[in-house]
Amino acid sequence: MRNNKVAVVGIDGVSWEVLNRFIDNGVMPFLKNLLSSSAKGVLESVIPPWTPPAWTSIATGVNPGKHGIFSFYIVTKTAKEYHVRFATIFDVMYPRLHEIVDFYGLKSIIINLPLTYPANFTTARNAIIVSDWIGPKLTIYPRRFEKYKDYFDVNRKLEENKTELFLNGVLELAKYDYDLLFVIISETDWLMHEEGREILSGNITSRASRLMKLIDSFIREIYETAEYLLIVSDHGFSLNSNAIDLKSILEKSNMKCRRLGEAGVAFKVIGNRTLHIPGCFIKILRHPKVRHYAKRLFKRINIGKKTTRAFHSLKYEDCEVLLPDPGYIYTAPTLKKKVINILKECSALNVYTPNELYYGPYIKRAPDLIVWPKLGYGLDSSITHSLKGITLIAGKDLDVDKHVMKLRTWDVAPLILSLLGLPIPHDTDGNVKSLCKRLGVQLHGKRDYVSYWKVIKKIKTASIGKRNIRHAL
Ligand SMILES: [Zn+2]
Repeated sequence: MRNNKVAVVGIDGVSWEVLNRFIDNGVMPFLKNLLSSSAKGVLESVIPPWTPPAWTSIATGVNPGKHGIFSFYIVTKTAKEYHVRFATIFDVMYPRLHEIVDFYGLKSIIINLPLTYPANFTTARNAIIVSDWIGPKLTIYPRRFEKYKDYFDVNRKLEENKTELFLNGVLELAKYDYDLLFVIISETDWLMHEEGREILSGNITSRASRLMKLIDSFIREIYETAEYLLIVSDHGFSLNSNAIDLKSILEKSNMKCRRLGEAGVAFKVIGNRTLHIPGCFIKILRHPKVRHYAKRLFKRINIGKKTTRAFHSLKYEDCEVLLPDPGYIYTAPTLKKKVINILKECSALNVYTPNELYYGPYIKRAPDLIVWPKLGYGLDSSITHSLKGITLIAGKDLDVDKHVMKLRTWDVAPLILSLLGLPIPHDTDGNVKSLCKRLGVQLHGKRDYVSYWKVIKKIKTASIGKRNIRHAL
């Protein structure tokens, strides 16, 4: 079992269309070489293809209805209003790969996986965890690895020297013994948001080339530390000639509609309890002059009283339709049917109720409606995340043929567990039987991890005392 070291490199938001441009331009020589000796394919993302639900599905092997993460946000509805807050590690309801392999005493190194803040909250005792960019600040578990902090303190934007430092940090950590290394490079997603138009139109900027070159040599070096290498992306990007503006469609039908970015107040996500801020205060806190102090106040309240997770509330009368992330729609309770009718008239949109896409105990967290544009259309912008990510698998004894793999996000975790020689989750949504057969990877049965993990998580939540939470902050 100990000889099957698996390294997973996530390159956020990269499709084959993009990758091939860099490969064809000679920017990624290692990857070009690797293509001839690896199995590759398209990874079909979740709908809508946003980073937190996609990576959580990749890392758990189940759909959002089972792991509970649908978006960057958790929205709940009361009789009069919506409550919105950021999703956090406490909302992930299914064990992720590092927590599963931990049951067998296997060692993992997890870097920048969404929703791993605060890192010390994990149930995985054999893991080294560097928390992700979505969290309010960087945390590393166990504490003795905090000496590597300087490598990972990225600024949530593209800065070449920081990317190089980040990748060097991963290589430093990879010197420690591991069975599973899972790193996500977010910079590729940020690059596509900034320069996707040029790249998808065939103009590769020198900055983009330098970034992909760095990643290419990083992949070569990390592969030297493992027996198996997986390259995965959670979604792609597409450039479309048309864009659908959901807000203006709804406003044309006289609906009061708000995107979350317009709601103003900065959320502060800390700890595991909730602090409700009444709507009237939110208005005051949003004032530019007060905002700076409000942010400090949030921090103080949170640290001092172990209360946390700032809520933002929005009354139905002010916001009949709430659009937290593009593609997710919450409506005032009486208006759902009306909104469905308006949106169904738009022939370029696919309109779903959540249970048409997902199922599981946490489907209640899903929005009222999920929409995604048809091929050739963007949502809110002509450049949008697309449903097509990538997968590539390489390893010494794999049977690699020319057949193109088609994987869904939740197929990835059971595939990795099989490579590690471990049983897959008993209720996984992944179906890797035929793929494993083709690759020559043996399956090792199924096991219920989730029940046991939930008990450990409860104990962990109860025992993570005030001191520890403060430390995490
Ligand atoms: Zn992403």
